[in-house]
Order: sequence, then C-alpha cells, then structure tokens
Amino acid sequence: MGDRAQPPGISQRPRPGATRCPYCHDVCEADPDACACAACLSRHHRACWDEAGRCGSCQAGARLELAAPPAEADPRGYAAAVDAWLRLAAVYNAVLALATVALLGGRLLSPAVLIQVLVGAFLANLCFLAGPGAEIALRRLNLPLVAAASRWVLFPLGLLFALALALVSCASLPTPD
Ligand SMILES: [Zn+2]
Ligand SMILES: [Zn+2]
Repeated sequence: MGDRAQPPGISQRPRPGATRCPYCHDVCEADPDACACAACLSRHHRACWDEAGRCGSCQAGARLELAAPPAEADPRGYAAAVDAWLRLAAVYNAVLALATVALLGGRLLSPAVLIQVLVGAFLANLCFLAGPGAEIALRRLNLPLVAAASRWVLFPLGLLFALALALVSCASLPTPD
C-alpha cells in the first residue's frame, strides 16, 4: 500500500562539492571557513576543529588548511600614504585660500584678478602632486621610513614655497584704479 517511506536523511544529502563535518554533522563547503584532517582528509568547519582540537572522524591531531589566509592587501602602504596626502591637500588649499583672501580682500571680486587666482590655485595643486609622487616612489623602492619622513619634510617646504609664490603673485597684480 503506497510507496515505501524513505529512511530519514537520504533525501537531504549534501550537494556535490560539500561534505558533512564529522564533528557537528552539518554540511561543510570547501571555503576558507573549512579545514581538513591531514590523516583522513575529512573536511571540518574550522570552528568545529578548534572546539574539538582533533579530527571528528579518525581523531588525528593535524589539519590542512583548504585556503591560505588572505595576504596583506597593501604591504607597501600606498593607500595610507595617498589618504594622508589627501588630508594634507585639504590643509594646503585651506591655508592658501585664507592667505589669498587676506592679501587680496575685495579685489577678488574683479574677474581678471579672480581668473589669475584660479590659475594660481590650479598650478599650486599640480605642484602639490610632487609630494605624494615622491612618497609613492620611495615606497616602491622599499624605503618606507624615508618615505614617511619625506612627507613631513616636503609638505611644510612645499606649503612655504606656495605661500611665497602667492605673496609674490598677489603683489604683482595691477593695483585697482
Ligand atoms: Zn562542523
Ligand atoms: Zn581524520
């Protein structure tokens, strides 16, 4: 009468590529959260192995890692250097903008003066790129300490140089009638 009932569990086999962890008997995928017994190659959840301290199948104590831990993403510190220089660029532009407003005041309302100031600001930011450029080159040459030191030498020198240029170019603007 009717179909013979299937034994429980048969219809819930893990899909191909996954096995069952011999410790918790749950499905275990071949991913970085898994490890395998070095003796019988049974795949375990890493957390289960850490809890048991040995293979849940053959009780051996050594395991293989299925995937190496991810390598350090930015070993030379390029990203951190660029972030630092972006913050310094904000300081640089704020100081130069304040200095320009203090030097020129109401003369900034003249279109001719404003165009010259904008060209100067563009050139100042082009020159600024020398700073991060030098630091990235030094990091590429595997000189991280020199690279970090260069930031704190190049930035103040560059800022003083840009301020001096701003002073000279503001003084050379034709005086209003
Ligand atoms: Zn498990
Ligand atoms: Zn084992």
